[in-house]
Amino acid sequence: MNSASEAVVVGSGPVGAFAAWNLAKLGVNVTVFEEHAEAGIPSHCAGHLSILGLKKLGLEVLPKGVVENNYSGANFYSAKGTKFSVRLSKPVTCAVNRALFDKFLADRAEKAGARFSLNSRVKSLVLKNGFVVGVNVDRHSAMEMQSETKVVVDCEGISSRLVRQAGLAILDHHELVHGVEAEVEGVDNVVSDEVEVYLDNEYARGLYGWLMPRPDGTAKVGLAAKRGNPRELFQKFISKHPVASKQLSKAKVRRMAFHPISLGGPICRTYANGFLAVGDAASQVKPTTGGGVVFGLTCARIAAEVVAEALRRNEASSNFLQLYQERCNSSLGFDFKTMLRARKFINSLSNEKINNAIQFCCKFRLDNALKDIEEIDFQGQTLIKILTKPAVFAGLAYFLLLYLTANP
Ligand SMILES: Cc1cc2nc3c(=O)[nH]c(=O)nc-3n(C[C@H](O)[C@H](O)[C@H](O)COP(=O)(O)OP(=O)(O)OC[C@H]3O[C@@H](n4cnc5c(N)ncnc54)[C@H](O)[C@@H]3O)c2cc1C
Repeated sequence: MNSASEAVVVGSGPVGAFAAWNLAKLGVNVTVFEEHAEAGIPSHCAGHLSILGLKKLGLEVLPKGVVENNYSGANFYSAKGTKFSVRLSKPVTCAVNRALFDKFLADRAEKAGARFSLNSRVKSLVLKNGFVVGVNVDRHSAMEMQSETKVVVDCEGISSRLVRQAGLAILDHHELVHGVEAEVEGVDNVVSDEVEVYLDNEYARGLYGWLMPRPDGTAKVGLAAKRGNPRELFQKFISKHPVASKQLSKAKVRRMAFHPISLGGPICRTYANGFLAVGDAASQVKPTTGGGVVFGLTCARIAAEVVAEALRRNEASSNFLQLYQERCNSSLGFDFKTMLRARKFINSLSNEKINNAIQFCCKFRLDNALKDIEEIDFQGQTLIKILTKPAVFAGLAYFLLLYLTANP
């Protein structure tokens, strides 16, 4: 069986659904293939998003139930339990229910005219004369079909199988961390609008542990680490970490999900003839926090604009589609570079140096310099703004010293 559409989107995660929504709004005849029976399920993500980031994407109003909580503060802990707290002047981030968020985006895309084919796994790309001209799809694990198209927008997530088939270099596996995301109930000693962040190489080398409380005493708890068995690290974290173990001493874990996160910054080339990679497939994830939703959606919108233009001109060659990468770079390139440097720096710190850094932040009241921050996605640009504050400047000098004396 065959079908045809102007554009095919692979994957109905947030990035695929948002790409399809934007394509449909621009009048493109688009089909989305999703391997699961429903968009958004299973979910592996904490759904911690910036309110400003959502606003910039036109998503400030979400249906009831999607936003679970808003946060106005964060507490950072060292392995010794030293705490640095930042209290912001208003809520800056929120927790979304990722399954409902993804469903909302898919629903909007469908209403705008995108076709969804669920239970449909894209097995491979169809290539002709060096161009991607379609996809081979395994439907309901039984029937196979081929779908012809002019452009494939690959939003398959971190597996990057199609990226490789398109002849592009995939994300760097050395830069992966392995994440655990859990739903727990019965959390103690937390403030319901403050996020807890645990910087500790023993449990979360390469990223951190987190606890995102809800007012009803439930929370999303997780960690991601470069090395070690994530399940074992998580069990140890909730039972032994000096701070988290107290907050979670009576907690019951209701659900756990495991998934990798790519922290190496975007792959070097995200386009080929008739093909674009977007979101986790292109490693468009913040190297500092592992957050990929706001940047992935930002790139999805750019991808949709470029694809619509390519279809209007009947020109889906890599020569034209490179415009996508150019526009992503000009929107996010500086911030990605800054965050990659910051990630390298943080990775180089021992637990002791992290503890010193947290003590320094407390002593020099860096919380005062940070309290009006609203922009937390574009961290390079935010850094430039806050550097004008003397305490932050002194802080940077200190961190530079730490960097120069850090372990390799
Ligand atoms: C533990 C953890 C916590 C995280 N927390 C946050 C957070 O708090 N905030 C944040 O911004 N980011 C977070 N992230 C990152 C975030 O989850 C990803 O960046 C985001 O999900 C990327 O969206 P995506 O659509 O590119 O990929 P995905 O969400 O992975 O979606 C890909 C979709 O494609 C489908 N698919 C894959 N292959 C095929 C195929 N061949 N055919 C058809 N369908 C296919 C999959 O079923 C899936 O539905 C977290 C990640 C992890 C692992």
